[in-house]
Amino acid sequence: MSLPSVKIICEPSQDRKLRDNAWLMTEFETLWKQYFSDIERKNPVMAAFGRPARVRLGSIRLTRKKVSKIIMNGHFRDPSIPNEVVQAILAHEMTHYAQGFGSQLEKKAKFPHRCALVDKELIRRGFGETLSIQKKWTKNHWQHYIEEYKKNTKKYSFSNKKTRKKNHSEPFQGTSEKCGFVTKFANFVRKF
Ligand SMILES: [Zn+2]
Repeated sequence: MSLPSVKIICEPSQDRKLRDNAWLMTEFETLWKQYFSDIERKNPVMAAFGRPARVRLGSIRLTRKKVSKIIMNGHFRDPSIPNEVVQAILAHEMTHYAQGFGSQLEKKAKFPHRCALVDKELIRRGFGETLSIQKKWTKNHWQHYIEEYKKNTKKYSFSNKKTRKKNHSEPFQGTSEKCGFVTKFANFVRKF
């Protein structure tokens, strides 16, 4: 599939207005209304940008106060990353909520990513094209984007492993969604 509607820029923008949490929550509510309106909000759910990260694109966790908190990679503040990329990752986390991961809804499966559970659900809900744009963009541009960021900006800070394990998080390319299959390329990326 070609991507005529997506402006391909794969370097961090230096001078453009960044997306903020208000923008993110507006996207969240729009996506919910359009694609997830049948899902009960059994407990509150919110989305915010976290720190820029090399690998983790997004995550959802249930806090002690029973709020489902979606944290999106801080790089997604950068408008040079297409909206579809941010939307697809956000919708991925919303699907976790709907399937009972990081939420108080009934769990629909034992493991959140096994056998492309999330992608299948996103496609079923009519999100296939956006998902396809996101996968192509991350495959073709993410690595270069990260390299440029490292060159021009700063180092990354690392979250501790305990937190990472507790969250349902999205590694770059969603490699854990292929029934345990991990690509060679993904292994390479993880070594950064
Ligand atoms: Zn996930």
